[in-house]
Amino acid sequence: MTMSPDWTRAVKLVDGADCVCLACHIRPDADALGSMLAVAQALHGRGQQVVASFGDDPFAVPAILRFLPGLDLLSEPASYPAAPAVMMSFDASALDRLGSLTGPATAAGELIVVDHHASNSGFGSVSLVDPGAAATAVLAAELIGRLGLRLTRDVATCLYAGLVTDTGSFRFSATTPEVHQLAARLLAAGADPVAVSRELYDRAPFGYLGMLAAALDRAALDREAARGLGLVWTTVTRADRAPANLPMDAAESVIDEIRRTNEAEVAAVLKEDDQGVWQASVRSKDVIDVGQACTQLGGGGHVRAAGFSYTGRANEAIAALKRTLDGA
Ligand code: MN
Repeated sequence: MTMSPDWTRAVKLVDGADCVCLACHIRPDADALGSMLAVAQALHGRGQQVVASFGDDPFAVPAILRFLPGLDLLSEPASYPAAPAVMMSFDASALDRLGSLTGPATAAGELIVVDHHASNSGFGSVSLVDPGAAATAVLAAELIGRLGLRLTRDVATCLYAGLVTDTGSFRFSATTPEVHQLAARLLAAGADPVAVSRELYDRAPFGYLGMLAAALDRAALDREAARGLGLVWTTVTRADRAPANLPMDAAESVIDEIRRTNEAEVAAVLKEDDQGVWQASVRSKDVIDVGQACTQLGGGGHVRAAGFSYTGRANEAIAALKRTLDGA
């Protein structure tokens, strides 16, 4: 359920708040964390008190996002106010995506939801949800503009990281003229596209190549799956990451290699996290709604990019995915 964004109400609440408590979804990507840090820095820049966090336990910023400016404004979820007067969530499609900050979100006086997932559940008291937005960063930029806050180089860098990530470096279907216009504004404000892209896509320790080789070597193609449109999939295990001591997020980019496969409409990578749970990334090209398929498996996402978690064997996870893909 989505309503048209209530910008007027959101601006009034933020302008009048003594402190604004910000949160983004757990295991944040660049869009979630970048959007939150952009707004946090913009508010902080005009002297407003902010709290910013996400509900992961243990609490850690993914290694690939440690280049983002404004990390100094983050605090542990354990010290988050239990019942904030004004709270904002970024890029979270449902309440449970806030992890341990679900409690404060439920108890908040006002909860402003900034998101672009079509599957957004309509939680919160003020909706800044637009499924047509290419990234939550687009909505965060709009909010910063409407609040009259400064688009500093650091704010622009955080927004640009979110925009680049969610548009697949301006390759995905949501890449509109407005997306490029926003990108131009962000570059004009000082965001460095070379530095951001290098951090997000073009850096890895040498050991990454070994992990990638193992994952590619196991790739399997099922031409009958996904209504005969084809599924290509592989796994990245803890054992693949162990020799080079790679963190879980080192496996994030494997999907971008797998999904090239001409013979498959759908691509999936099962990444084994440090607890032994499979975190699946699923992508489609033109036809299959993987967001719907993953939602049926307890996950969520977008039409062409989604994910789910699975505890059990990789083969079972793929079998479950195939069943939902046949109906998607
Ligand atoms: Mn997003």
